[in-house]
Amino acid sequence: MVTRTGIAGLTLSGGLGWLRRKHGLSVDNLIGAEVVTASGDVVRASAGENEDLFWALRGGGGNFGVVTSFEYRLHPVGPEVHLCFVLYPAERAGEVLGACAEHLDRLAEPAAPLGVLGHVPEADEFPADAHGDPYVALLCVYPGDAGEGESALAPLRGMGGEIADLSGRMPFVEAQGALDEDYPDGLRYYWKSINLGGLSDAVVDELVARNDAAPSSHSTIDVWFQGGAMAEVGETETAFANRGSPYLLGVEGNWEDAADDDANVEWVRGTFAAMRPHSDGGVYLNFPGFQEEGEELMRAGYGPNYERLARVKAEYDPENLFRLNPNVAPAS
Ligand SMILES: Cc1cc2nc3c(=O)[nH]c(=O)nc-3n(C[C@H](O)[C@H](O)[C@H](O)COP(=O)(O)OP(=O)(O)OC[C@H]3O[C@@H](n4cnc5c(N)ncnc54)[C@H](O)[C@@H]3O)c2cc1C
Repeated sequence: MVTRTGIAGLTLSGGLGWLRRKHGLSVDNLIGAEVVTASGDVVRASAGENEDLFWALRGGGGNFGVVTSFEYRLHPVGPEVHLCFVLYPAERAGEVLGACAEHLDRLAEPAAPLGVLGHVPEADEFPADAHGDPYVALLCVYPGDAGEGESALAPLRGMGGEIADLSGRMPFVEAQGALDEDYPDGLRYYWKSINLGGLSDAVVDELVARNDAAPSSHSTIDVWFQGGAMAEVGETETAFANRGSPYLLGVEGNWEDAADDDANVEWVRGTFAAMRPHSDGGVYLNFPGFQEEGEELMRAGYGPNYERLARVKAEYDPENLFRLNPNVAPAS
């Protein structure tokens, strides 16, 4: 949901966007690809050509070759959409996230919200007396008519006591860039992710406490609402696994000074560890930050698809040339 990262890595490890509950993951909209393999061959992968490779590319990351072109299925969107972007005090996280989850079932269009816990930036859009306060935010693009979206998402903005409401109509491409300025070059980043089976009171209380304890005010904890179209694709239909999980948690350590590296990395790892008992399995391999934990976590990421991925890897990259990635070792 930023405009400056690449489409290749995004697609090969899944691709979560504003339309994931309506049209699925980026990978679910991949029709074909051209790949330069480890042996230097140029091959096409699609439903009718090199089917194993096509299956593996849809979630298996950069393990199978260098993709030199992607062909996608397109969908009409907007061009104008409604973006809900509202911040409430973080101590109301349970109420706000819970109301959002309930409201989703009432919508005519399958919107895909993002809940964010963070600290109010010192910027003019936010009231000065709230700067630095912990917040819980709801962000959501309505994937239908903009006017309908404004009224459909109004309850998310109407809970009262908001810190700020930055919602509005805008071209979809502008909504895509709504978070761009939160990720400037030069900041230091360390992220992890883990799927959650639910948002119990215990989970939300822990997230609020972890947000309070973040060593950097730039850091956030993100709650991605999943399901919808991305969960309608079969678990082994593509390499991307753990499709049934209702939430993905992203723990984003974002900070300025190298002297603070240890404290911030520790905060991300501690938050991840605290959430593990609440996970229904799986991590998102586009927010990796965990290669140091090795094959066990890769197996968690790929679930029932790991063994087949290892076999396809052995066919296309038996020497593991493409290994500087969340790596699938070739089956022996
Ligand atoms: C600020 C920020 C916001 C993000 N927001 C989202 C989001 O909203 N949704 C989401 O799903 N993800 C998001 N991501 C994660 C993003 O999907 C990954 O960082 C992804 O890897 C970016 O793709 P890239 O092409 O820039 O990858 P790169 O950093 O260039 O490469 C990462 C890896 O991808 C593989 N790769 C890249 N290009 C190719 C290729 N042509 N052929 C084969 N393998 C290749 C390689 O293994 C490579 O090591 C975000 C990341 C950042 C930094």
